[in-house]
Amino acid sequence: MRKSPRATTPPDRAKLRLKKPKKKAAGIPAALSSAYHGMTKMGVTKTVKTLVTVNQQEGFDCPGCAWPDPEHRTTFEFCENGAKAVADEAMKAHVNASFFSHHSIQALAELSDYELNRKGRLAQPMHLAPGESHYKPISWEGAFEKISGALKSLPSANRAVFYTSGRTSNEAAFLYQAFIRAYGTNNLPDCSNMCHESSGKGLGQTIGIGKGTVTLEDFNHANVIMVIGQNPGTNHPRMLTALRDAKKKGARIIHINPLPEAGLSRFKHPQDYMKMDLTSTQLADIHLPVRIGGDAALLKGLIKLQLELSAVDHAFVNEYTSGFQSMKDAALNTTWDQIVNDSGIPRQSIQDAAEMLASSNATIACWAMGLTQHKNGVSVIQEVVNLLLLGGHVGREGAGFCPVRGHSNVQGDRTVGIWEAPSESFIDRMEKGLGFDIPKEHGYDVVQSIEAMADGQVDVFFCMGGNFLSATPDTDFTAKAIANIDLTIQVSTKLNRSHLVTGKEALILPCLGRTELDVQDGEAQFVTVENSMGIVHRSKGTLQPASPMLRSEPWIVSTLAEQTLGLQHLPWNDLCSNYDSIRDLMEASLHGFTDYNRRVRNENGFSLPNPPRDDRTFNTHDGFANFTTHQLPDVSVGEDQFVLMTLRSHDQYNTTIYGLHDRYRGVHGHRRVLFMNADDMVARGWKSRTKVDITSHFNGETRESASWLLVPYEIPKGNLAAYFPEANSLVPLKSTADVSNTPTSKWIVCTLRSSPVHNGVEEE
Ligand code: SF4
Repeated sequence: MRKSPRATTPPDRAKLRLKKPKKKAAGIPAALSSAYHGMTKMGVTKTVKTLVTVNQQEGFDCPGCAWPDPEHRTTFEFCENGAKAVADEAMKAHVNASFFSHHSIQALAELSDYELNRKGRLAQPMHLAPGESHYKPISWEGAFEKISGALKSLPSANRAVFYTSGRTSNEAAFLYQAFIRAYGTNNLPDCSNMCHESSGKGLGQTIGIGKGTVTLEDFNHANVIMVIGQNPGTNHPRMLTALRDAKKKGARIIHINPLPEAGLSRFKHPQDYMKMDLTSTQLADIHLPVRIGGDAALLKGLIKLQLELSAVDHAFVNEYTSGFQSMKDAALNTTWDQIVNDSGIPRQSIQDAAEMLASSNATIACWAMGLTQHKNGVSVIQEVVNLLLLGGHVGREGAGFCPVRGHSNVQGDRTVGIWEAPSESFIDRMEKGLGFDIPKEHGYDVVQSIEAMADGQVDVFFCMGGNFLSATPDTDFTAKAIANIDLTIQVSTKLNRSHLVTGKEALILPCLGRTELDVQDGEAQFVTVENSMGIVHRSKGTLQPASPMLRSEPWIVSTLAEQTLGLQHLPWNDLCSNYDSIRDLMEASLHGFTDYNRRVRNENGFSLPNPPRDDRTFNTHDGFANFTTHQLPDVSVGEDQFVLMTLRSHDQYNTTIYGLHDRYRGVHGHRRVLFMNADDMVARGWKSRTKVDITSHFNGETRESASWLLVPYEIPKGNLAAYFPEANSLVPLKSTADVSNTPTSKWIVCTLRSSPVHNGVEEE
């Protein structure tokens, strides 16, 4: 019996260094950091080669977030974290058979996620036999034989689960879902189940499309831009350029976030120095440091004031909406006491923001996890919809909804079929295009997958990219659930903890990265992705693959499909020999991809249909944009309890830890830190670096996590913040958002106590 490797990140060994948080984002430090990551990981030549091709029309799409590229690119069309993402993928270091022969999975699991990530690119297929602790090399043929054999032996296709991470290209994702549906299941959980699923559900029910409605150009025509529960300075940095340009055109910005993030304070575009422009731009005009979970109350207050200020576009409301009256009554009946108490924002500040909104003819609302990862994630997003519908801010230039996607193609994956709960119209169109029937029964999302694994209902678990174990909640529970599975397979570029905490038997299939040349049948291929604004565009790698044994994701899927299913459904390998064939099949099987191969060769690709944006058409149950009415959530917690939210440092991208420098928040060298309000600390006799243990509480259950160093920070009283994946072990699996089932990683009720180790204070 194999000893289970550690599932959670081991405590940091590095020293914690604290500096004053920054009030300005980007600038020279961002340029230096980009160069540092490039030079240390890729070397000079590759750094120059990749950074002049990333996000260019004939180049590759940044493997970072899904912020769109401007029509007119600059020579250096990337941000600091884009440069880190590229350097991380194109790094020289390799992880091969020799590496694994010297490192057991148990020993590797004692490394931090940062240390694991630095080991390098996975260079060849590897196999972990049952009971063994060391991976051994395996041929591609051998690996496919194992997987297809296991799949064919299952009593039901529903005992297999196929996960997708948001970096997967449209072509790979489409083939993958076609294979999985031909195999006979809809068990297609993906990373959006954990991030913007609440946005998809919230918008889908109210405006008839689960995506944002703005274009990048709209930012240049906005009067007011709201940035809610989002930290663009770290997670979507080129968005700061759009905000700066909007400010220069007179827009005003309302920043709603428990934390005063540097990215919304001031912004200095590094390339301005080349124009001898030394000025920086103040971004947010108002920062509303809302209490965690207080967004719904704040939005209710803003809605109430729009009504009282008569800032209602009655022509739009009467012609295009339904449900106005009950929404209005609910807002007007909500007391200011509850609004101010639940939001933690003084009435006057709400008034100031409301007046800004009331005078706006064009308002954009942007948001991210700060809204989606809550029990009321769907309803709070629908309060944003209520606020903008009141002013007719949809389908108008400079106005609309902008949920900003964190993964470069997470929106594209959903569009092309990575969806455990496909709609009837989607299934109809897909069956017509594919020419075979597909399953109708909905499959597992992420949380349901883990529950099924824990119940022993899953025998084969296939992951297309990602780091499932570290990205999901309830880490220890999830690790035990995964250990129940007979065979786990990871298609990956980099070593991570999900390669160490596996099923009884495991396989690693190393794939090409975004930056790398993908040659099929002697021809270099391009893939396509969809950004947050619904633009589909090309991405073509330019670098020689890190290893000759890497394969493209479409090739891996088509080869496995042919090995498992034969050619009865589709000519899998023929499709993969020229990706235009895959796109032709996508055109036949999906809405909005007409003339795909021609249009995607346009310089900037093409926009998918977006009825609310295109012509104020709302494909909802009643054909109108729906106002909705929601009770405010109960945001009270018990005596001496806190509300914790997980977040990223500036030196990470999802669960990938690039470095140990959260430069904007002044935290260096150590990640096991807990941001806490200084008054809350003093009230307990604690001070900076006091070591505490955290206990989370949910439905009578508790989860423990020890040895966190306190960092005094500008955060509302009673609120705490900590980095993921370290804090994910505190997030209860069953604590999810209504309707979307998204884990509530931004709302974790917990208590603290001094850590018995080191009588609580970490030495300087
Ligand atoms: S903003 Fe996002 S997509 Fe653009 S370069 Fe930065 S990380 Fe990459």
